[in-house]
Amino acid sequence: MSLLFVVGFSLILGLLFGSFLNVCIARLPRHQSVVSPRSHCPQCQHPIRWYDNVPIVSWLVLRGRCRDCQQTIPWHYPLVELVTGLWFAAAGLRIYSDYSVYFLDANSSGSMSGFLSHLTGDLGFATLGFLLIGLVVMDWQTQLLPDAFTVTGTAIALLLLCIRAAFLGPHEGDVILNTTHQLRMSSPGSLGVHGNIFVTGTESLLYGRVLAVAAAAGLLYLIRWGYERVRHREGLGLGDIKLMAMMVAFLGFAPGMLALLLGTVGASGYGMLLLVRGKAGVASRLPLGSFLSVGGMIAAAYGNRLIEGYLALLR
Ligand SMILES: [Zn+2]
Repeated sequence: MSLLFVVGFSLILGLLFGSFLNVCIARLPRHQSVVSPRSHCPQCQHPIRWYDNVPIVSWLVLRGRCRDCQQTIPWHYPLVELVTGLWFAAAGLRIYSDYSVYFLDANSSGSMSGFLSHLTGDLGFATLGFLLIGLVVMDWQTQLLPDAFTVTGTAIALLLLCIRAAFLGPHEGDVILNTTHQLRMSSPGSLGVHGNIFVTGTESLLYGRVLAVAAAAGLLYLIRWGYERVRHREGLGLGDIKLMAMMVAFLGFAPGMLALLLGTVGASGYGMLLLVRGKAGVASRLPLGSFLSVGGMIAAAYGNRLIEGYLALLR
């Protein structure tokens, strides 16, 4: 398995998935099927020929216009394909480096279950990127974050986590407090209770993540409720909350909160820019979901490094 093959294959797969993502972006907010009818020009209804449907290349060859009616094809079509392609290539790079850790390096363990556990995480990375790229564009264009992406995405994330848990080695990821550590729950008049806590890796992985999703959704629901009580209008949509729940389901609590931070900072900066330029009022609606999704992509790609760097600063 050579590096070039894996990354190249992932890139092409990503371009094809990006092409399908464009169909989802155009149809899901209108509750249309993403399978049928076949792709056609929204202006002249002419079906798209297969050779006019090659990711990025066709858009360049056609100079961004329909072959039949010259209707312009928006530039976000090739951009979505390119970003999805690059994201999948990055996922391929992750898969290759995990493979070399387990099978190619001089002192690698050769553990198949260990590799499969990491592979599941890498597939989650690719899936999350696909969903977030789509949500960035859909929220920007339509102010909608379809359940078909957010709720289904949460289900996929938890399913992948179950598969990952199944590949955990015996006692891998266990939460253990050593036997000398004692929990002392005593109050006047009662006996002291001594013991230790032992949570298996599978349980700590699954329960921990479900708890994280519930906590994140609860926290955001509280913010939404508080904002509505104070300002008497909706500040945080239910779609935004489902989006956050999905990101936490894929990434865990801390990277999810990092995505929330990056997203709100980005949206605030954009809002202020619009205010300064006089293009928006204080009550204008910002595509917060788009900013949260970009925050999620940064958290997925660099989250662990950013969080470790931040913790190192505190020490
Ligand atoms: Zn046309």
